[in-house]
Amino acid sequence: MSNLYCIKGDILYTKDFGSFETIESGYILIEDSKVKGVYKNLPEKFLKVKVTDYKNSLIIPGLVDLHLHAPQFPNIGLGLDKELIPWLETYTFPEESKYDDIEYSKKVYSKLIKEIWKYGTTRCCVFATIHKESCKLLIELFNTSGLGAYVGKVNMDYDSPINLLEDTDNSINDTEELLKEYRDKFPLVKPIITPRFVPSCSDKLLKSLGELAIKYNVPVQSHLSENRGEIKMVADRYPNEPNYASVYNSSNLLGQTKTIMAHCIHLSDEEITLLSNKNVYVAHCPTSNVNLSSGIAAIRKLINNGVKVGLATDISGGHTLSLIEVMAYTMQMSNLKWIESNYQDAPLTTAEMFYLATKGGGNFFGSVGSFEEGYDFDALVIDDSKEEPFNYLSLEERLQKFIYSGDYKKIKARYINGNIVNEPNL
Ligand SMILES: [Zn+2]
Repeated sequence: MSNLYCIKGDILYTKDFGSFETIESGYILIEDSKVKGVYKNLPEKFLKVKVTDYKNSLIIPGLVDLHLHAPQFPNIGLGLDKELIPWLETYTFPEESKYDDIEYSKKVYSKLIKEIWKYGTTRCCVFATIHKESCKLLIELFNTSGLGAYVGKVNMDYDSPINLLEDTDNSINDTEELLKEYRDKFPLVKPIITPRFVPSCSDKLLKSLGELAIKYNVPVQSHLSENRGEIKMVADRYPNEPNYASVYNSSNLLGQTKTIMAHCIHLSDEEITLLSNKNVYVAHCPTSNVNLSSGIAAIRKLINNGVKVGLATDISGGHTLSLIEVMAYTMQMSNLKWIESNYQDAPLTTAEMFYLATKGGGNFFGSVGSFEEGYDFDALVIDDSKEEPFNYLSLEERLQKFIYSGDYKKIKARYINGNIVNEPNL
């Protein structure tokens, strides 16, 4: 027998890029884990279905974080007066080398997942470290939490600090072991192939990871064109490749299976076309991009050229795990891009930005990030009743207030894949 239930409240979501669907005091009908319908008035045949009435609360899709580094959680807020490469060398690499210690890993990762939950993120794509056992632990902890995640063991065998430098064959074998063990083990938590970025991988490793992606049909995540120094390193090493993106493409790591590339700030027009043709998702990381003086990604241009985009916190280049704050930064950075582009790249509207934070990134996980029929039911219930509006506010305006307040404490319930998910007991 199917499990049918209903929740009631002020519903707001996006179906298409640029427009909100809103129903005040409406119903979402859920069958098993999926949305069956959204109604202003419940059809008669469903009148006997149990309704949870969230009264005047907003109900929105869960937030999707397309890119973050779990082991960098202890470093949030540190060293953000540096650019990418010195920041990596001073803060990130020393911290990441600690995760061969499983007790330390457990301490950090348990707290991290609770924080991700706290801010209303329901699905995320996560870099672990090179260490196989602590990566397994992270996958297991995510599964226990009820959150959805792709988790990747990082691969590094080239031009990296000695305590993070892998033997190439070990790196490949450990990755394959993780894929075999976790590819089908959990419904909401899956492994993902995670070369750190081209500068820290040998050509043999990149090619082998591409082969594994295809062999096991698993997705890929990495970094692309974050910083000009990084781009020059790649260009110097691959003089015969036309650009940075094509290095990944030559190794079957760019859209041969589902792929996320983080940052994508300094892309050439040829690279934008390549990303679009290959259906690559760009993880837009506005906080990190400004903190590490990397640049302002041309999100409007990417979208106009058919590139898929989602939002990401990118801790700890980003200084917050809150996608609520990242949504506000996305708006602010798009305003700056408008000025920087001499008023060519129009700023994002709230509806456009919210699409990126929900359905834009959610589509990487399947039918996620909307309340359309057949979508996995991921939702946040936001109680903004303590706000005292001086004037009537539309649902869109209430969402704007929530985003710019950054107040995660207003989230009073979280649903993931049809289930209420309470604070993880890790
Ligand atoms: Zn990153």
